[in-house]
Amino acid sequence: MKIKKLLTAVIATSMIFGLTACGSSKSGSTATSGGAASNGKTIGIAMPTKSSQRWIDDGNNVVKGFQALGYKTNLQYGEDVVQNQVSQIENMITQGVSLLVVASIDGSALTDVLQKAKDAHIPVISYDRLITKTDAVDYYITFDNFKVGVLQGQYIEKALGLKDGKGPFNIELFAGSPDDNNSQFFFNGAMSVLKPYIDSKKLVVKSGQTDFNQCATLRWDGATAQARMDNLLSKSYTGSRVDAVLSPYDGISIGIISSLKGVGYGTASQPMPIVTGQDAELPSVKSIIKGEQTQTVFKDTRELAKRVVAAGDAVLKGQKVEVNDTKTYNNGVKVVPSFLCQPVSVDKSNYQKELIDSGYYTKDKLGN
Ligand code: BGC
Repeated sequence: MKIKKLLTAVIATSMIFGLTACGSSKSGSTATSGGAASNGKTIGIAMPTKSSQRWIDDGNNVVKGFQALGYKTNLQYGEDVVQNQVSQIENMITQGVSLLVVASIDGSALTDVLQKAKDAHIPVISYDRLITKTDAVDYYITFDNFKVGVLQGQYIEKALGLKDGKGPFNIELFAGSPDDNNSQFFFNGAMSVLKPYIDSKKLVVKSGQTDFNQCATLRWDGATAQARMDNLLSKSYTGSRVDAVLSPYDGISIGIISSLKGVGYGTASQPMPIVTGQDAELPSVKSIIKGEQTQTVFKDTRELAKRVVAAGDAVLKGQKVEVNDTKTYNNGVKVVPSFLCQPVSVDKSNYQKELIDSGYYTKDKLGN
C-alpha cells in the first residue's frame, strides 16, 4: 500500500515537471530529453574574449561545473571578432552539442546561427549578455545590470558629498560597447543617480558629452577609452580639474587612469579623480589598493557559472529552471526569462572581505 502511494507521488511529481517543461517550451525552450542522464552530452560554450580575465574565469568555471555533472564541454573564445564567434557556434551545432551557452560579442549578430540551433533542437542559454533579435534563446543568466550602474553612480554621489549639497564638480562619462545590450543598462543605471545632479549643475560635464553614443567604447577597449580621455582632457580641462570619471568596466578604467597620469594626475597636488569600474579584475584591484582607481563592481563569476550549469542541467533534464525576473529583458522578439545575480560595490574599505575572505582572490595574488 505504502509503495503504491509512493509510486503515485513519483508519477504526480514527474507530471508536474513535465508540465513545467512544456510551459517553458511555450516561451521558446526547445529542451527535449526529459530525465536523461548527462553522460555523453556535450555543452558548447562560446565566450567573447580572453583579453579580459573575467571571461577566462567564466569559461573555466562553466566547464568545471558541467564536467562535474558528467557532461563533456567544448569551450571557444571569439577574441572579439563577431564572425569568429558565429563560426564557432556553427561548428558546435554541426558537432551535435546538446546545449549552447553563449556570452555574445555582438548580441544582435547571432540571429541566423541560432536559428540553426533552434532547427536542430539545441537549447540556448544567454550568458551574462543578452542575445537579441531572435526567439532562439531560452534563458538569460546574468547580474542585475541596471544595479551595476546604480552602484557606480551612488559611489560617485557619496564620494563627492553630492547628497550633502556639495559641488559643483566636474565629471566625464564613459559607457561600454554599443553592441553589448548590458552597456545601456549600466549607463542608464548610473545616470538614474547622476542625471539629477547634472540637471541641477552640481555635476558639470565640461565636454558636453552626455549621450550614450558619445560616451560608448567599442568592444570595451581600454586603448580606445584612453584615447578619448586624452582628447577630453586636452580639449576641456586645460586650467581646470576633472573630479570624477564614470567608467563602466575595469579595462576602461585602467585606460582612463593612464591618460590621467599622462597629464600629471595622481600626485599630492593633483590627486586622481574618483574613477569607478566593474569586474574586480586583478590590475584594477591592485590599482584600488594603490589608491589610483577608486571603486569597482564585483560580480562573482563563480556564482554566475553555478547558476548557468544548474539551468543548463535542468533544461536538458526537462526540469524547471529557476528564474527571478520575467519582465526586464525584452530582446526585441521576446522577453527572455532571466536569473539576475547580485553585484557588490568594492573599494579599499571592503576588498578584503568581498574578494579575499570570499576566496575569490588569494592575498598573494593581490601582492600584499
Ligand atoms: C559584462 C561586464 C564586462 C564587460 C566587458 C559586459 O557585458 O557584463 O562584466 O565588464 O562586458 O567585458
